[in-house]
Amino acid sequence: MTKPPLTLYLAAPRGFCAGVDRAIKIVEMALEKWGAPVYVRHEIVHNKFVVDRLRDMGAVFVEELDEAPTDRPVIFSAHGVPKSVPAEAERRNMVYVDATCPLVSKVHLEAERHHENGLQMIMIGHAGHPETIGTMGQLPEGEVLLVETVEDVAGLEVRDPGRLAYITQTTLSIDDTAAIVAALRERFPAINIPRKEDICYATTNRQGAVKALSDRIEALLVIGAPNSSNSRRLVEVGRAAGCRVAQLVQRATEIDWDSLQGVTAVGVAAGASAPEVLVDEVIAAFRERFDTTVELVETVKERVEFKVPRILREAAETP
Ligand code: SF4
Repeated sequence: MTKPPLTLYLAAPRGFCAGVDRAIKIVEMALEKWGAPVYVRHEIVHNKFVVDRLRDMGAVFVEELDEAPTDRPVIFSAHGVPKSVPAEAERRNMVYVDATCPLVSKVHLEAERHHENGLQMIMIGHAGHPETIGTMGQLPEGEVLLVETVEDVAGLEVRDPGRLAYITQTTLSIDDTAAIVAALRERFPAINIPRKEDICYATTNRQGAVKALSDRIEALLVIGAPNSSNSRRLVEVGRAAGCRVAQLVQRATEIDWDSLQGVTAVGVAAGASAPEVLVDEVIAAFRERFDTTVELVETVKERVEFKVPRILREAAETP
């Protein structure tokens, strides 16, 4: 039987960003340095495939520090942690490695700087996401107010409208965030504007790549986890750009083939925590069903790299 023709447009950049790459390397290097088990507080990055692989290598994933014994090293995930977490690790005399992405740490420092200057912070982010919890946890309770939508801005009760600054989660939708910032500036004209947006280069580039594909495709597949903020935003960007079908899939087995019937042009993107092997798997699944041509749509080349913490660059030693 002849297969129907289909073009797969591959978004580039896609998949791992420098922060995810560094966080995974930190767990691998910690296992090499200290042997198994090494404990990791929260999924190191939001991807089941990555987490399962590291678990097989000897990493133990826990949600809270008190689930880890004090005589084994513990790693904090790429999303960042409230200040209370490293403080508690120190109190318990634990060896810990912080895999917080340097671009998230930059937002933490920004929040602290504004706080020292007496400004109250407004954070644009998603309630309950570990990055939001970590960033808000850099300052004392009540010092960071969270807004998730334009509507939330109207309900804000601030200490002094003339002494405010805002920060954002790094993985938000650029367009939605711009609308919230506009509402904040309208309500609080004196609000301090960041020198550079907190939404990171990887989020920006992946959303730009999906937009660049969108006028060529009838359907978009985003490879990523349901709890991955930046992956979910890519699906929304695809929908907003007019893709009738925009699906988030963890891997090829989750593709809804019925929704792709009669389609001849499909875009494939991958969130910042999705490994390339899952993209290869999706391409192979298309090749089984369609006479597939793959075309790369590259909007920008990424050359960002982050060093791992010094403790892992030093010679092996036991904790
Ligand atoms: S998505 Fe951005 S902030 Fe998050 S880990 Fe990657 S580079 Fe860092």
